[in-house]
Amino acid sequence: MEEITDLDIAIFGAGIAGLWTLARLQQAGYRVALFERDALGGIQSIASQGIIHGGTKYALTGRLTGSAMAIGEMPGIWRAALAGDGEIDLRDVRILSPHQYLWTTGSLSSGMAGFFAGKVMHSRMQPLERGAYPPPFDDPAFRGQVYRLDEPVLDPRSLIQVLGERCAGSCHRVAGIPDFARDDDGWRCALPAGPVVRARHVVLAAGRGNAQLLAALGHDTPRMQTRPLHMLMLRGALPMLHAHCLGASANPRLTVTSYPLEHGQVVWYLGGQVAEEGSGRDRDAQIRAGRDELAALLPWLRNDDAQWATLEIDRAEIATPGGRRPDDAYVGSRDGVITCWPTKLAFAPRVARLVGDAIAADGVAPAGRDGPAIDLPPPPLASLPWDGELAWS
Ligand SMILES: Cc1cc2nc3c(=O)[nH]c(=O)nc-3n(C[C@H](O)[C@H](O)[C@H](O)COP(=O)(O)OP(=O)(O)OC[C@H]3O[C@@H](n4cnc5c(N)ncnc54)[C@H](O)[C@@H]3O)c2cc1C
Repeated sequence: MEEITDLDIAIFGAGIAGLWTLARLQQAGYRVALFERDALGGIQSIASQGIIHGGTKYALTGRLTGSAMAIGEMPGIWRAALAGDGEIDLRDVRILSPHQYLWTTGSLSSGMAGFFAGKVMHSRMQPLERGAYPPPFDDPAFRGQVYRLDEPVLDPRSLIQVLGERCAGSCHRVAGIPDFARDDDGWRCALPAGPVVRARHVVLAAGRGNAQLLAALGHDTPRMQTRPLHMLMLRGALPMLHAHCLGASANPRLTVTSYPLEHGQVVWYLGGQVAEEGSGRDRDAQIRAGRDELAALLPWLRNDDAQWATLEIDRAEIATPGGRRPDDAYVGSRDGVITCWPTKLAFAPRVARLVGDAIAADGVAPAGRDGPAIDLPPPPLASLPWDGELAWS
């Protein structure tokens, strides 16, 4: 007779959504295992800018949109976890900066100035005195204003490493797509080159891999959208900086996060509008666009010896009308299959809570047992984009 390992929940994908959810479901006493195709931190999470948004950047049009409200409570949950006082102990995660800056290039438009003076935003960000401006804004050539925003920036690799260690023994590498079949006790998953497991619930947390897994499960919904980014990296003798440049739209014109390298070098990881608009450009054209943007925004910054690289990457999300950015994390449950797209790294705790709610709503009670031993190797930890194989010039 076929040997089957019984689970309450099988999670697919070891990005932030899968790992946070695994940790929470284990705490709740479920018998759960996670299966990852490549590496811990996978695709988007390891390549993210590590910003734990509280929604401020979404509120820049002058009104609090749905996403600004849903995400508003996330920094508090993360801060508690980072202090060792929250739902997961993240004390060992490296915090690159406890806050970020927002900067304007000149005086604010009157609408935006009024908005910043408004009650909601006032509690989230403080204007800095000129003498307190951090580099590179401490230059006499800088004419704009700088605000401090109390939302942390994390090292994504350290975050994934800490979560992975917390769940060691429960994360397994799978070589491909399982063969799924439904029976009265749940989903039978024949893992390629691995054992057969049966799970009452399957949780899809595989980012853009969810589409293929849904198809293998015979589900044609929910539908996924991808939104491309062409990120830029600049490596050299640069100051550490975590900041958004405010443009005229709801999206920051430029978002800079920084990572210290060896020998005093720093890499600037550049996102925002320049990355959104760069998806049609080839590498050289995108680097030219990045150079022009820095020359326009920080013309006094010396970076002649610095080297550039780019990374093309898709964000995977629940499909929305017109392909716009979803306002919230998505968790949908149907026939024992729970599909998640967090939309933001910051939304991971919300995804885990919604998955827990969906499992409880289906009447699956935790068995209160440890996960079973599964004979598959653990996935390695993914590399940060600038540590991977990139062409620098
Ligand atoms: C460039 C960039 C910058 C970003 N910056 C920020 C930021 O600063 N702050 C923020 O809040 N959000 C940010 N985001 C968004 C955030 O990174 C994502 O919303 C989040 O990381 C998605 O996590 P995830 O776990 O769903 O997906 P992923 O991190 O993509 O993980 C999915 C995992 O599933 C695995 N997988 C795929 N197929 C299978 C399969 N068949 N079986 C098993 N495993 C599979 C993959 O290998 C991967 O490990 C950024 C996104 C990008 C692209």
